[in-house]
Amino acid sequence: MPLALPEGKRLAVSLGADFDAHCLWMGTFGISTPGYLSRGEFGAEVGVPRLLNLFAEYDIRTTWCVPSHTLRTFPRQCAAIVEQGHEIAAHGCYHEQVPKLDADEERRLLALQIADHEQLVGRRPNGYRSPAWDFSDATLGLLEEFGFLWDSSLMGRDFDAYRPRPIVTIDRELGNTFGDPSPLIELPVSWFLDDFPALENLPRSPAMGSTDTVFARWKDHFDFAYGRVPGGVFVLTVHPQTIARAHAFMMFERFVDYVAGHDGVWLTTLSEIAATYHG
Ligand SMILES: [Zn+2]
Repeated sequence: MPLALPEGKRLAVSLGADFDAHCLWMGTFGISTPGYLSRGEFGAEVGVPRLLNLFAEYDIRTTWCVPSHTLRTFPRQCAAIVEQGHEIAAHGCYHEQVPKLDADEERRLLALQIADHEQLVGRRPNGYRSPAWDFSDATLGLLEEFGFLWDSSLMGRDFDAYRPRPIVTIDRELGNTFGDPSPLIELPVSWFLDDFPALENLPRSPAMGSTDTVFARWKDHFDFAYGRVPGGVFVLTVHPQTIARAHAFMMFERFVDYVAGHDGVWLTTLSEIAATYHG
């Protein structure tokens, strides 16, 4: 197994938050009207303290992926996240659509967000999570160039950390080819372990799904990882503006309690998990 977990630990678990606030609507969806932005405001004003209280209750430190736009728009909430011992990782400047950027603009935005973190968080981020979880052809190389230690945006494994490989050629008839594994450590995400597409009311595909369905899915994923992938990693993503709604939050409280009730679960930050990688 590529992770050397601490003695007595069976599964690394990240119950992380993507604190997108306003810029999710602006960057990914191209919307900046007051109604949508108020949903981001709810995430900041209600969601963040609600999540911080829950994490404190269970003594959980975790990783918050925060775009620069949120660092600037909601500095008080970001300061509270840091004060309570959590990690802040890079998550774009304004939740930009990374696959649509040319390499020069992508490099400029990466340099800008590192400078923003140094100025506003007080440290360089160890890790990166791409907004909306997709790369351009240049992203992997740029993350290496900027010295990131880990990424958490790809889905080439489910419960194993791995070194992602660039896809060097794409050919419909001859097949595709991979390059050499990256020095970056990938801590894989999954759309099935994300509250946003399952529970939100989205402009083009209103989900507003059942929290019972989401709980059952998350529990099955956790049970599978805990039972069958010892030494693995389970990465859940919640959004303050989504998970803090009453019905969703009560489901999340049940899920946190369920996970924390298992022996050998190591609830911690993505950087601490990445530091145990030895593959
Ligand atoms: Zn996001």
